[in-house]
Amino acid sequence: MSEIIKYINSKDFETEVLKSGKVVVDFYSTECPPCEALASKFESLADVYGKDIKFVKIHRQENRDLAIKLGVSSSPTLLFYDNGNMVGSRISGGIKRSEIVENLELLVSPERAKELKSGIETTKTECDVLIIGGGPAGLSAAIYTAQAKLNTIVVDKDLPGGQVKVTHLVSNYPGFSEPISGYMLMHYMAEQAKSAGADFRSAVDITEMNLTDKFIVIDGYETITAKKIIIATGSSPRPLSVKGELEYKGQGISYCATCDAKFYDGKHVVVIGGGNSAIEESLFITKFASKVTIIHQFDKLQANKLAQERAFANPKIEFMFEYEPREFIKNGSTVNEVLVENLNTHEMSTVHCDGVFIFAGMIPNISEIKQFFELDNWGYIETDADMKTNLKDIYAIGDVVSKSFRQITTATSDGTIAAIAISKALEKE
Ligand SMILES: Cc1cc2nc3c(=O)[nH]c(=O)nc-3n(C[C@H](O)[C@H](O)[C@H](O)COP(=O)(O)OP(=O)(O)OC[C@H]3O[C@@H](n4cnc5c(N)ncnc54)[C@H](O)[C@@H]3O)c2cc1C
Repeated sequence: MSEIIKYINSKDFETEVLKSGKVVVDFYSTECPPCEALASKFESLADVYGKDIKFVKIHRQENRDLAIKLGVSSSPTLLFYDNGNMVGSRISGGIKRSEIVENLELLVSPERAKELKSGIETTKTECDVLIIGGGPAGLSAAIYTAQAKLNTIVVDKDLPGGQVKVTHLVSNYPGFSEPISGYMLMHYMAEQAKSAGADFRSAVDITEMNLTDKFIVIDGYETITAKKIIIATGSSPRPLSVKGELEYKGQGISYCATCDAKFYDGKHVVVIGGGNSAIEESLFITKFASKVTIIHQFDKLQANKLAQERAFANPKIEFMFEYEPREFIKNGSTVNEVLVENLNTHEMSTVHCDGVFIFAGMIPNISEIKQFFELDNWGYIETDADMKTNLKDIYAIGDVVSKSFRQITTATSDGTIAAIAISKALEKE
C-alpha cells in the first residue's frame, strides 16, 4: 500500500481536504469491486503525483453524512480539490486511469505533470498469448493456454472477474449445487489461471493497441507483444440516453446493485428495465430498499420465468408497465424524481424516489477497435468455429462475439475453444 495515501474520517475533512491545497479524495466502500479496481490505480498514481497532490481515502459507509452532504451516492467516487474548491469532474463507477490523470493534470501545470511522469520507466514484454479482458471467457482461455505451457498475459482495465464479480449470486454454473456468489466464482477462476502460470496486468488502461503488429501499450509505459491476441472484453450496460442520466451518474443513478444497493436501506428505488438483469438485481435490492418500482417499456417482463415469479411474489416490488423514463431530476444531492411517459396515453407523470438503477441491455466493449472487425447487425464480432476473427492471429470470445446466448458457460466454452485452437496453431508455427 502506498504510504502517500491518507485514510481520514469526516471530522478531519476540513483540515485534510478543504485547507490542504491540492487534494484528490476517493470515497470507497467495502465489498465493492470497482473500488478495489480503483485502489491499485489510485496507489500507482499517488506514487507519481503524490509529491504535489495529496491522496486521501474516505470510507463511505462510515462517513455517510459527509458523503450525503457532498452528493456522493455511488462507490467509488473521486473528488478533486484545489484550496478548498472542487475542481475538474466528479468521477464515479468503473473509473479509467486516464480520467483520473486528466483531473490530476488540472491541479498541476502541464510542465510539472511532464516532469513528474518522466521518472517512470518504460518496459517491453513478449508473450505467446495476450488476452484482453479477464472475465469468465478470458480466464478460461488463460487456464487452458497457461496449462499448455504457453506464456500467457491477461490484461484487464479492472480487477479480473468481469461482470460476474458484481453479480450477487450465480445459480446456473455447473459444479455448484447451491448458488455461489459471483465474486467467489471469479476469484476461483482467477486463482486457477494464476496457479497455471498466467500473468496478470489488472486495473490498467490500454493506451495503444495495434492488431496488425500484435502489440498493446499499457498505461503508456509497458509494451506487450504477442503471437496471438484474444479479445475478451465482454459487454457493458447500455446507457438509456435520457436527460439527467450521464450528468447524475454516481449521484443517484447507478448501474451496479452489488456496489450501491446497500446505501438504499429503507429507501424507495426505481429500476429501469425488465430483462434478467433488471429482475435479478431488483430482487437483490429488496434486501435493503423498502420499495422497488420497476419501470418497463413493454407490457410484460423479458426475464426468465423463475425470476418473474419471484419478483411478482415479492411484496416490495411494484411494476409500471408500458412506461419510459424521460428525465432524471436531482433536487438536492441525489436524483429523487423520474419523469415518465405512459406509452399508451403519452401522459407525463413524476415518480418520487431516492435513487435509480438502470439495467437496459448491454453493448459490446469494442468501441475503439470495432472498425477492424467483421461485425453482425448488432455490432458483435463475427468469428469462425475456432473463435478466429477476420484478422490474422486475432481471436474473440465471450460476450463480445456474435451468438444467440450470452452466459458464463457460453463464455467459458468460447475461451476453451480459442485456447485449444491457439495451442494447436502455435505447435505448427
Ligand atoms: C447483472 C448480470 C447478471 C448475470 N447473471 C448471470 C448468471 O446468473 N449466470 C450466467 O451464466 N450469466 C449471467 N450473466 C451473464 C454473464 O455475466 C456474461 O455472459 C459473462 O460475464 C460474459 O463473460 P465475458 O468474459 O465475455 O465478459 P465480461 O464478464 O464482461 O468480462 C469482460 C472483461 O473485460 C474487461 N475489459 C473490458 N474492456 C476492456 C478494455 N478496453 N481493456 C481491458 N479490459 C477490458 C472488463 O473489465 C471485464 O473484466 C449476468 C450478466 C449480468 C449483467
